[in-house]
Amino acid sequence: MLNKELDAEDSAVTDDVFMRRAMELAALAEAEGEVPVGAVVVHDGVIIGEGWNRSIGHHDATAHAEMMALRQAGQMLQNYRLIDTTLYVTLEPCPMCAGAIVHSRVGKVVFGAHDAKTGAAGSVMNLLSYEGVNHHVLFQGDVLATECRAQLQAFFKRRRAEKKAAKLLARQQQHDD
Ligand SMILES: [Zn+2]
Repeated sequence: MLNKELDAEDSAVTDDVFMRRAMELAALAEAEGEVPVGAVVVHDGVIIGEGWNRSIGHHDATAHAEMMALRQAGQMLQNYRLIDTTLYVTLEPCPMCAGAIVHSRVGKVVFGAHDAKTGAAGSVMNLLSYEGVNHHVLFQGDVLATECRAQLQAFFKRRRAEKKAAKLLARQQQHDD
């Protein structure tokens, strides 16, 4: 019993560590003007893949943080099957990423904030684990959720303010003409 409790405590600590790294990667996305989402793939306690959202910069709708981290992990292991890995991501995966996670045979997904609009790990649908699919991915949400959500909300708030300022400026210029 005690051992189990200690194990649970340990894994909560390591979950926080890897989620914080994912948040650092999300900040890189933000610095590039992308929606701040970051992801890491962990194997045997070591990060083997890192990714952040780069869809705009790469002109690639598939360049989500999870996809980038899965690609790097595949190169690292020289195998598209990422057996016994855990993927950490700051935002609940979308259907595309959930599909890639299943194809990659990731063992577990740990995510921060829920995505009420497109979340495919339980919020809107559950593509990670359902009847009829032979690979079930374990998942757990709400790890550092408050911080992950705050990071996203700050980004969208800033972007709205920038758009508003740009609109005002355009109106002002029209007026001047
Ligand atoms: Zn995605």
